[in-house]
Amino acid sequence: MIEPVALSTLTTFRVGGPPAALVAPVTEQDLITETLVVWGLDENWLLLGGGSNTVVADEGFDGIVISVVTRGIEVLAAAPESSKADAADAAVSDAGADVGARVRLRVQAGEPWDDLVAYAVDHGWAGIEALSGIPGSCGAAPVQNIGAYGQELSDSLIAIDFLSYETGEVDRLERADLALGYRTSALKQGLRGVVLAIELELHDTAAEASVLGSTLGQPLKYAQLAGALGVQLGDRVPLSIVRATVLGLRAGKGMVLDPDDPDTYSAGSFFTNPIVTETFARSLPTDAPRWQLEAEPADRVIPLEEYMGVGPIPGEEPVRLVKLSAAWLIEHSGVGRGFRLPGSKAAVSSKHTLALTNTGGATAEEVAELARYVLGRVQAEFGVNLQPEPVLVGLTL
Ligand SMILES: Cc1cc2nc3c(=O)[nH]c(=O)nc-3n(C[C@H](O)[C@H](O)[C@H](O)COP(=O)(O)OP(=O)(O)OC[C@H]3O[C@@H](n4cnc5c(N)ncnc54)[C@H](O)[C@@H]3O)c2cc1C
Repeated sequence: MIEPVALSTLTTFRVGGPPAALVAPVTEQDLITETLVVWGLDENWLLLGGGSNTVVADEGFDGIVISVVTRGIEVLAAAPESSKADAADAAVSDAGADVGARVRLRVQAGEPWDDLVAYAVDHGWAGIEALSGIPGSCGAAPVQNIGAYGQELSDSLIAIDFLSYETGEVDRLERADLALGYRTSALKQGLRGVVLAIELELHDTAAEASVLGSTLGQPLKYAQLAGALGVQLGDRVPLSIVRATVLGLRAGKGMVLDPDDPDTYSAGSFFTNPIVTETFARSLPTDAPRWQLEAEPADRVIPLEEYMGVGPIPGEEPVRLVKLSAAWLIEHSGVGRGFRLPGSKAAVSSKHTLALTNTGGATAEEVAELARYVLGRVQAEFGVNLQPEPVLVGLTL
């Protein structure tokens, strides 16, 4: 155990009191051993990576924090047979991004995510370049299936090595076991344990580069990014340019950590974009942005009844779902950029309404009060209950 420090110093929101105790093992084996010791103590415990998606109460955490700081990126020697077959068949062409040589990586949980992206881009490995600049650790990346600018971790994740709280054993869980979805996974929904390492498969564009002259990223899937690059959706652009452009776009929104920019003292987006039935979406103003999702069987929609007061229509399956813009709903409920409650040091980001921020010296309770206010405004104006994206420790909204 090491001397516990206030969790405000270990989280990007910079709020939260100390835990009862803290451990920070630096090797994978020590992470396993020390975690099993902690679990044997019958105390509360909390895993913490980069602390960029965790908001801790002012009282701190009455238990042991396991800080995940293991480092290392391993290039796995043998490509799996299926990938080799793909590689043999591959033709280098503009449309050839989905086939071709692949590279597999095994990455320790405490490795900073953006260091991994930078490493992949430098080596000409495509698949996570649009996820540049997302703070936090690789071990937490599957927890909410990180995503941005048209890519998600689930596009590249093969498996995780997982220390199960249930069994105390290390298991390999394949991507299909993890129920990865929009900002969610089985890990976020109650599967307890430690992600020790993640295994990714990326597109090795080095062979293409000898023909095309450059290592290209995956086909672009996000209109704003394609627009910033001056190309069309589906086009491929050199990896390093995609990375630089994403970092620039993110900086403009306060979405890359910057000690000089208080708008980044946050947990990124504080609310997820709500998913509602198309029927419900029709009750919203016509200019409210919405994106059509796959139709879902009615049983997947039932939880929405709790959230939205709108249920599946019996006998009318499948129900069509749309994703709304939480930022638009917040802004149009009268909560603008930079908004803060009187006397509070918590504020809506001055760059966009989806992030709540600590303008300096805010308490966790001030953050929670602001979040409750935003939730109340959106509920009153549009009848939508926004869901918080970060993990709240000791805080209720
Ligand atoms: C400025 C900013 C921008 C952001 N932009 C994005 C974005 O574009 N897209 C996006 O998806 N997210 C974004 N986020 C959210 C955040 O960066 C990600 O969710 C990230 O994956 C969190 O990693 P972390 O290590 O900081 O997690 P933490 O906050 O340390 O932990 C998050 C959760 O994961 C658990 N956890 C941590 N490590 C492990 C482990 N090894 N095994 C099991 N559970 C673990 C924790 O217990 C906690 O429940 C942003 C955050 C900030 C501050």
